[in-house]
Amino acid sequence: MTEKTLKILQLYPRDMNIYGDWGNVLSLSRRAHAHGLATEIVDYNPGDIFPEDFDILVGGGGQDSGQTVIQDDLHRIAPVLRSAAESGAPMLVICGLYQLFGNQFTTVGGEVLQGIGLFDAHTVGSEERLIGNIVIESEEFGTVVGYENHSGLTYLGDGVERLGTATKGEGNNLDDDGEGARVHHVIGSYLHGSLLPKNPRISDYLVRHAAERKFGSFEPAKIDDSLADRAREVAASRPR
Ligand code: GLN
Repeated sequence: MTEKTLKILQLYPRDMNIYGDWGNVLSLSRRAHAHGLATEIVDYNPGDIFPEDFDILVGGGGQDSGQTVIQDDLHRIAPVLRSAAESGAPMLVICGLYQLFGNQFTTVGGEVLQGIGLFDAHTVGSEERLIGNIVIESEEFGTVVGYENHSGLTYLGDGVERLGTATKGEGNNLDDDGEGARVHHVIGSYLHGSLLPKNPRISDYLVRHAAERKFGSFEPAKIDDSLADRAREVAASRPR
C-alpha cells in the first residue's frame, strides 16, 4: 500500500517563528501521523524556490523587523498563495504573518507594510503591547487557548469571519472582542503557544481539508485527547 503523504510548508521559519510557533509544524505533523498519513516538512525562506505543491501552509509570528525582511518575498509568492487559498488549501498564519495576510500593517513608527490581502483586514501598531494568556470561544473549534504578544491592532473588514471571541485577553484589537480571521480554509490568529498542541481540533481541521483536497477523502482516527483537553482546561482557568 502506498502511503499517503501531506506536504507541510513552513513559511519563513528563519524570520517568522517566535513564542513556540515551530511547535505548530511538529504538532500538525504528529497529528497527521496519528490519522494514518505521512508528512513531508518543507521550510521556505526568502529567495528559495517556492514549493507550489504544498498541502498545508503554516506560518509564524515575528518582530516588525522580521516582517520587513520577508515582505518583498511574500509579495513575490502572493499569486500562488492566493490561488492555493481559493482552491481550498488549508493554511494557518500566526501574528506577524496573520497581519501580512491582511491588506496593510502600519507599524507604530509609521512604516507601512503592504499585505497580500487574503484577509480583508488592516493592522495599526499601537504604543501598548497586548501581552498575556488568551482564551477564545470559537464556533468551529470550541474553547481555544494560547498566548498573545503584539503591538499591532487588527481590524477586520465587514463580513470577514473571526476565528473566535476573546473571553480572556484581547485578540485582534482593544475595541472589539474578535480574535483572528478566517477565509476559505485559511486561519489567521494572534495565538502563539504553540497553538496546535493544546488545540488539536484546529490540527484536525487543517489535516482534514488537506487530505480531502489531495486524496478526495479523509478517515479520521479516534485519538485520545484527554491530555490536550486537560492542558486547555488548566490554561483557560489561569489568570492572564
Ligand atoms: N510585530 C508584530 C506586532 O508586534 C507581530 C508580533 C508577533 O508576531 N508576535 O504587532
